[in-house]
Amino acid sequence: MNDLKSSIRDIPGFPKEGIIFKDITTLLRDGKKFRESVDLFAREFEGKKVDVILSIEARGFLFGAALAYKLGCGIAPIRKKGKLPSKTHAVTYDLEYGKDTLEIHQDAFEKGARVLIVDDLLATGGTTRAVIDLVEKMGGKIVGIAYLIELTALKGRDKLKGYPVVSLIKDEYC
Ligand code: AMP
Repeated sequence: MNDLKSSIRDIPGFPKEGIIFKDITTLLRDGKKFRESVDLFAREFEGKKVDVILSIEARGFLFGAALAYKLGCGIAPIRKKGKLPSKTHAVTYDLEYGKDTLEIHQDAFEKGARVLIVDDLLATGGTTRAVIDLVEKMGGKIVGIAYLIELTALKGRDKLKGYPVVSLIKDEYC
């Protein structure tokens, strides 16, 4: 087991009462730990013939971009409503604190592309489930889903059955 977990900072009560926010900036500022995280992701997905990484605004971009460089694949952003300049597909979903709409460019990947979804954290799985539905409607094949942190008590994995899910840090969140 890696020792990345000790680099994550808990911020209780952010962004609202009852949430313990997992602050990854304390890991990112440590060059060795950041590199180790990206290397561990790369080890999981090298040889999986990933065409494109889809990473989710905003913290997903940090790992998605580094991993895309390492794997030599493309990257496309999944962003909050109204941020992408070209034609988009959209999906609205529930998350641990509130509701949100995400968008992706209609031409983010080719039909049949091998897609790897990257985000910083798996909580309830609502965000990723929405992204999966979007990607599959667009004809993408999901070859993996990667998170830095998984909040295991929230059982987000139950929403992702049948997909290869990798998380580097398991946190019970209680
Ligand atoms: P979910 O859809 O419930 O799996 O929520 C995952 C998304 O919400 C990720 O993009 C996270 O960045 C964010 N998120 C949810 N809960 C937390 C938390 N406790 N700490 C930090 N980020 C969170």
